[in-house]
Amino acid sequence: MKHILSVDQFDKAALETLFQSAAKMKQLVETKGGSDILKHRVSANVFYEPSTRTSSSFEAAMYRLGGNTISINDVQYSSVAKGETLEDTIRSLEQYADCIILRHPEVGAAQRAADVASVPIINAGDGIGEHPTQALLDLFTIYSEKGTIDGLTITLVGDLKHGRTVHSLVRLLRHYDVTIHTVSPLNLSFPKEHAKKSTHPLTAHESLDDIIRNTDVLYVTRVQKERFAKPSDYDKIQGSYVITNNTLADMKTDAIIMHPLPRVGEIAFEVDSDPRAAYFHQMRNGLFVRMALLAQVLA
Ligand code: ASP
Repeated sequence: MKHILSVDQFDKAALETLFQSAAKMKQLVETKGGSDILKHRVSANVFYEPSTRTSSSFEAAMYRLGGNTISINDVQYSSVAKGETLEDTIRSLEQYADCIILRHPEVGAAQRAADVASVPIINAGDGIGEHPTQALLDLFTIYSEKGTIDGLTITLVGDLKHGRTVHSLVRLLRHYDVTIHTVSPLNLSFPKEHAKKSTHPLTAHESLDDIIRNTDVLYVTRVQKERFAKPSDYDKIQGSYVITNNTLADMKTDAIIMHPLPRVGEIAFEVDSDPRAAYFHQMRNGLFVRMALLAQVLA
Protein backbone atom coordinates (compact mmCIF):
# COMPACT_ATOMS: atom_id res chain seq x y z
CA MET A 1 0.00 0.00 0.00
CA LYS A 2 1.55 3.25 -1.07
CA HIS A 3 -0.87 6.06 -0.28
CA ILE A 4 0.30 9.62 -0.96
CA LEU A 5 -1.46 11.65 1.71
CA SER A 6 1.06 14.22 2.91
CA VAL A 7 4.42 15.62 1.87
CA ASP A 8 5.70 14.49 5.27
CA GLN A 9 6.04 11.01 3.74
CA PHE A 10 8.91 12.26 1.53
CA ASP A 11 12.45 12.46 2.85
CA LYS A 12 15.28 13.98 0.87
CA ALA A 13 16.29 10.66 -0.73
CA ALA A 14 12.68 10.06 -1.83
CA LEU A 15 12.58 13.55 -3.35
CA GLU A 16 15.78 12.96 -5.26
CA THR A 17 14.48 9.64 -6.60
CA LEU A 18 11.22 11.32 -7.61
CA PHE A 19 13.01 14.15 -9.42
CA GLN A 20 15.16 11.66 -11.34
CA SER A 21 12.08 9.71 -12.32
CA ALA A 22 10.19 12.89 -13.33
CA ALA A 23 13.14 13.94 -15.51
CA LYS A 24 13.02 10.51 -17.19
CA MET A 25 9.27 10.87 -17.73
CA LYS A 26 9.87 14.24 -19.37
CA GLN A 27 12.38 12.70 -21.73
CA LEU A 28 10.04 9.80 -22.43
CA VAL A 29 7.14 12.10 -23.32
CA GLU A 30 9.35 14.32 -25.44
CA THR A 31 10.96 11.47 -27.37
CA LYS A 32 8.33 8.71 -27.60
CA GLY A 33 5.14 10.23 -26.24
CA GLY A 34 5.01 7.70 -23.39
CA SER A 35 5.32 4.02 -22.52
CA ASP A 36 3.27 0.97 -21.58
CA ILE A 37 4.41 0.44 -18.00
CA LEU A 38 0.88 0.96 -16.67
CA LYS A 39 -0.88 -1.02 -19.41
CA HIS A 40 -4.22 -2.40 -18.15
CA ARG A 41 -3.95 -0.32 -14.98
CA VAL A 42 -6.88 1.95 -14.14
CA SER A 43 -7.00 4.98 -11.87
CA ALA A 44 -10.11 6.79 -10.62
CA ASN A 45 -10.23 10.58 -10.32
CA VAL A 46 -12.79 11.51 -7.67
CA PHE A 47 -13.07 15.27 -7.33
CA TYR A 48 -15.47 16.85 -4.83
CA GLU A 49 -14.01 20.28 -5.67
CA PRO A 50 -13.26 21.87 -9.06
CA SER A 51 -10.00 21.10 -10.82
CA THR A 52 -8.42 21.72 -14.20
CA ARG A 53 -4.72 20.92 -13.92
CA THR A 54 -4.65 18.27 -11.21
CA SER A 55 -7.42 16.13 -12.69
CA SER A 56 -6.32 16.44 -16.31
CA SER A 57 -2.61 15.98 -15.63
CA PHE A 58 -3.29 12.84 -13.57
CA GLU A 59 -5.50 11.57 -16.38
CA ALA A 60 -2.94 12.43 -19.06
CA ALA A 61 -0.23 10.79 -16.92
CA MET A 62 -2.18 7.51 -16.92
CA TYR A 63 -2.66 7.65 -20.70
CA ARG A 64 1.00 8.48 -21.30
CA LEU A 65 1.97 5.38 -19.33
CA GLY A 66 -0.46 3.10 -21.16
CA GLY A 67 -3.18 3.04 -18.50
CA ASN A 68 -6.67 4.48 -18.29
CA THR A 69 -8.77 6.66 -15.96
CA ILE A 70 -12.31 6.69 -14.65
CA SER A 71 -13.06 10.39 -14.23
CA ILE A 72 -15.62 11.59 -11.73
CA ASN A 73 -14.71 15.23 -12.03
CA ASP A 74 -18.01 16.44 -10.70
CA VAL A 75 -19.33 14.29 -7.89
CA GLN A 76 -22.75 15.95 -8.24
CA TYR A 77 -23.28 13.56 -11.15
CA SER A 78 -22.39 10.54 -9.00
CA SER A 79 -24.07 8.80 -6.07
CA VAL A 80 -22.60 11.50 -3.82
CA ALA A 81 -25.59 13.60 -4.91
CA LYS A 82 -27.83 10.83 -3.53
CA GLY A 83 -26.15 11.03 -0.14
CA GLU A 84 -23.45 8.36 -0.44
CA THR A 85 -20.64 8.68 2.13
CA LEU A 86 -17.02 9.21 1.15
CA GLU A 87 -16.19 5.80 2.58
CA ASP A 88 -18.80 4.03 0.43
CA THR A 89 -17.74 5.92 -2.69
CA ILE A 90 -14.14 4.81 -2.08
CA ARG A 91 -15.19 1.20 -1.43
CA SER A 92 -17.13 1.29 -4.70
CA LEU A 93 -14.43 2.75 -6.91
CA GLU A 94 -11.75 0.42 -5.59
CA GLN A 95 -13.76 -2.39 -7.21
CA TYR A 96 -12.84 -0.91 -10.59
CA ALA A 97 -9.63 1.06 -10.15
CA ASP A 98 -6.08 0.29 -8.98
CA CYS A 99 -5.70 3.67 -7.28
CA ILE A 100 -7.94 6.60 -6.38
CA ILE A 101 -6.98 10.24 -6.78
CA LEU A 102 -9.16 12.21 -4.38
CA ARG A 103 -9.90 15.91 -3.96
CA HIS A 104 -12.25 16.84 -1.15
CA PRO A 105 -13.18 20.02 0.76
CA GLU A 106 -12.47 18.55 4.22
CA VAL A 107 -9.06 18.51 5.86
CA GLY A 108 -8.14 14.87 6.51
CA ALA A 109 -10.51 13.44 3.88
CA ALA A 110 -7.67 11.65 2.07
CA GLN A 111 -6.67 9.97 5.34
CA ARG A 112 -10.31 8.98 5.93
CA ALA A 113 -10.39 7.44 2.47
CA ALA A 114 -7.09 5.65 3.07
CA ASP A 115 -8.45 4.21 6.32
CA VAL A 116 -11.04 2.20 4.39
CA ALA A 117 -9.36 1.74 1.00
CA SER A 118 -7.77 -1.42 -0.27
CA VAL A 119 -6.06 0.49 -3.12
CA PRO A 120 -3.65 3.44 -2.87
CA ILE A 121 -5.21 6.87 -2.28
CA ILE A 122 -3.50 9.97 -3.68
CA ASN A 123 -4.43 13.22 -1.97
CA ALA A 124 -5.24 15.74 -4.70
CA GLY A 125 -6.09 18.44 -2.15
CA ASP A 126 -7.98 18.12 1.15
CA GLY A 127 -9.65 21.45 1.81
CA ILE A 128 -7.26 23.94 3.35
CA GLY A 129 -5.00 21.09 4.45
CA GLU A 130 -2.44 19.86 1.96
CA HIS A 131 -1.89 19.40 -1.77
CA PRO A 132 1.15 17.12 -1.76
CA THR A 133 1.45 16.37 -5.48
CA GLN A 134 1.31 20.10 -6.28
CA ALA A 135 4.13 20.80 -3.83
CA LEU A 136 6.20 18.00 -5.34
CA LEU A 137 5.79 19.46 -8.82
CA ASP A 138 6.52 22.93 -7.43
CA LEU A 139 9.75 21.73 -5.89
CA PHE A 140 10.69 19.91 -9.10
CA THR A 141 10.05 23.17 -10.98
CA ILE A 142 12.28 25.18 -8.65
CA TYR A 143 15.00 22.56 -9.01
CA SER A 144 14.66 22.41 -12.83
CA GLU A 145 14.53 26.18 -13.33
CA LYS A 146 17.20 27.20 -10.82
CA GLY A 147 19.43 24.10 -10.92
CA THR A 148 19.38 23.95 -7.11
CA ILE A 149 17.06 24.51 -4.16
CA ASP A 150 19.67 25.14 -1.46
CA GLY A 151 20.61 28.76 -0.95
CA LEU A 152 17.44 30.23 -2.48
CA THR A 153 15.25 32.96 -1.05
CA ILE A 154 11.63 31.98 -1.56
CA THR A 155 8.82 34.50 -1.11
CA LEU A 156 5.23 33.31 -0.75
CA VAL A 157 2.56 35.87 -1.56
CA GLY A 158 -1.20 35.84 -1.14
CA ASP A 159 -3.77 33.83 0.76
CA LEU A 160 -1.36 31.73 2.77
CA LYS A 161 -4.01 30.83 5.32
CA HIS A 162 -6.24 28.87 2.93
CA GLY A 163 -3.74 28.02 0.18
CA ARG A 164 -3.03 24.32 0.63
CA THR A 165 -0.24 24.31 -1.95
CA VAL A 166 1.97 26.58 0.17
CA HIS A 167 1.20 24.54 3.29
CA SER A 168 2.67 21.48 1.59
CA LEU A 169 5.52 23.39 -0.06
CA VAL A 170 6.77 24.89 3.21
CA ARG A 171 6.68 21.47 4.86
CA LEU A 172 8.75 20.03 2.01
CA LEU A 173 11.28 22.84 2.05
CA ARG A 174 12.50 21.72 5.47
CA HIS A 175 14.79 19.33 3.59
CA TYR A 176 16.66 22.24 2.00
CA ASP A 177 18.70 25.19 3.11
CA VAL A 178 16.37 28.00 2.06
CA THR A 179 15.15 31.35 3.38
CA ILE A 180 11.37 31.77 3.38
CA HIS A 181 9.51 35.09 3.40
CA THR A 182 5.76 35.60 3.44
CA VAL A 183 3.59 38.49 2.32
CA SER A 184 -0.13 38.16 2.85
CA PRO A 185 -3.13 40.42 3.27
CA LEU A 186 -4.31 40.88 6.83
CA ASN A 187 -5.81 37.73 8.40
CA LEU A 188 -4.52 35.48 5.64
CA SER A 189 -1.11 34.77 7.14
CA PHE A 190 0.59 31.39 7.08
CA PRO A 191 -0.95 28.98 9.65
CA LYS A 192 1.16 28.06 12.67
CA GLU A 193 0.39 24.33 12.46
CA HIS A 194 2.03 24.11 9.04
CA ALA A 195 4.87 26.51 9.95
CA LYS A 196 5.71 24.21 12.85
CA LYS A 197 6.49 21.44 10.36
CA SER A 198 9.21 23.58 8.82
CA THR A 199 12.68 23.92 10.26
CA HIS A 200 12.91 27.42 8.79
CA PRO A 201 11.56 30.58 10.36
CA LEU A 202 8.99 32.23 8.11
CA THR A 203 9.63 35.97 8.01
CA ALA A 204 6.40 37.88 7.49
CA HIS A 205 6.35 41.23 5.64
CA GLU A 206 3.60 43.74 5.14
CA SER A 207 4.69 44.64 1.64
CA LEU A 208 6.32 42.80 -1.22
CA ASP A 209 8.53 45.87 -1.73
CA ASP A 210 10.44 44.89 1.44
CA ILE A 211 11.72 41.64 -0.03
CA ILE A 212 11.22 41.60 -3.80
CA ARG A 213 14.82 42.55 -4.67
CA ASN A 214 16.28 39.59 -2.74
CA THR A 215 13.77 37.03 -3.96
CA ASP A 216 14.84 34.09 -6.14
CA VAL A 217 11.45 32.39 -6.27
CA LEU A 218 8.27 34.44 -6.08
CA TYR A 219 5.39 32.03 -5.39
CA VAL A 220 2.08 33.81 -5.94
CA THR A 221 -1.28 32.42 -4.81
CA ARG A 222 -4.90 33.35 -5.36
CA VAL A 223 -7.26 34.55 -2.64
CA GLN A 224 -9.34 31.41 -2.07
CA LYS A 225 -12.83 32.80 -2.52
CA GLU A 226 -14.55 29.50 -1.77
CA ARG A 227 -13.11 29.45 1.77
CA PHE A 228 -14.68 32.75 2.87
CA ALA A 229 -17.88 32.63 4.90
CA LYS A 230 -18.73 36.23 3.99
CA PRO A 231 -18.35 37.25 0.30
CA SER A 232 -17.78 40.85 1.44
CA ASP A 233 -14.58 39.78 3.25
CA TYR A 234 -13.29 38.32 0.00
CA ASP A 235 -14.24 41.44 -1.96
CA LYS A 236 -12.19 43.57 0.46
CA ILE A 237 -9.03 41.58 -0.21
CA GLN A 238 -9.34 40.59 -3.87
CA GLY A 239 -7.14 42.81 -6.03
CA SER A 240 -5.01 43.99 -3.08
CA TYR A 241 -1.84 42.60 -4.70
CA VAL A 242 -1.06 42.23 -8.41
CA ILE A 243 2.26 41.23 -9.96
CA THR A 244 2.93 43.41 -13.00
CA ASN A 245 5.87 44.43 -15.17
CA ASN A 246 6.59 47.06 -12.50
CA THR A 247 7.14 44.28 -9.97
CA LEU A 248 9.43 42.51 -12.43
CA ALA A 249 11.51 45.65 -12.81
CA ASP A 250 12.60 45.25 -9.18
CA MET A 251 13.34 41.53 -9.40
CA LYS A 252 16.62 39.70 -10.02
CA THR A 253 17.11 38.92 -13.68
CA ASP A 254 17.31 35.19 -12.92
CA ALA A 255 14.41 35.03 -10.44
CA ILE A 256 11.34 32.94 -11.26
CA ILE A 257 7.65 33.57 -10.73
CA MET A 258 5.44 30.61 -9.90
CA HIS A 259 1.71 30.14 -9.32
CA PRO A 260 -0.22 26.92 -8.73
CA LEU A 261 -3.07 28.43 -10.79
CA PRO A 262 -5.82 29.35 -11.46
CA ARG A 263 -4.97 33.05 -11.26
CA VAL A 264 -7.77 35.51 -10.79
CA GLY A 265 -5.98 38.75 -11.42
CA GLU A 266 -2.96 38.45 -9.12
CA ILE A 267 -0.48 38.08 -12.00
CA ALA A 268 -1.10 40.51 -14.88
CA PHE A 269 -1.11 38.90 -18.34
CA GLU A 270 1.77 41.17 -19.38
CA VAL A 271 4.04 39.12 -17.10
CA ASP A 272 3.48 35.93 -19.16
CA SER A 273 5.98 36.89 -21.87
CA ASP A 274 8.80 37.57 -19.39
CA PRO A 275 11.33 34.69 -19.24
CA ARG A 276 10.99 34.72 -15.45
CA ALA A 277 7.35 33.59 -15.68
CA ALA A 278 7.70 29.90 -14.79
CA TYR A 279 4.04 28.96 -14.28
CA PHE A 280 3.59 27.40 -17.72
CA HIS A 281 6.61 25.12 -17.16
CA GLN A 282 5.26 24.46 -13.68
CA MET A 283 1.98 23.13 -15.13
CA ARG A 284 3.82 20.97 -17.62
CA ASN A 285 6.02 19.59 -14.86
CA GLY A 286 2.81 18.47 -13.18
CA LEU A 287 2.43 15.88 -15.91
CA PHE A 288 5.95 14.50 -15.44
CA VAL A 289 5.85 14.44 -11.65
CA ARG A 290 2.42 12.77 -11.63
CA MET A 291 3.64 10.17 -14.15
CA ALA A 292 6.54 9.46 -11.80
CA LEU A 293 4.21 9.20 -8.79
CA LEU A 294 1.77 6.89 -10.57
CA ALA A 295 4.64 4.70 -11.72
CA GLN A 296 5.82 4.45 -8.09
CA VAL A 297 2.37 3.66 -6.78
CA LEU A 298 1.19 1.30 -9.52
CA ALA A 299 4.06 -0.18 -11.54
N1 ASP B 1 -5.19 24.63 -7.87
C1 ASP B 1 -4.64 24.84 -6.55
C2 ASP B 1 -5.43 24.05 -5.52
O1 ASP B 1 -6.27 23.26 -5.87
C3 ASP B 1 -4.51 26.27 -6.20
C4 ASP B 1 -5.78 27.07 -6.14
O2 ASP B 1 -6.88 26.54 -6.34
O3 ASP B 1 -5.67 28.26 -5.89
O4 ASP B 1 -5.17 24.21 -4.35
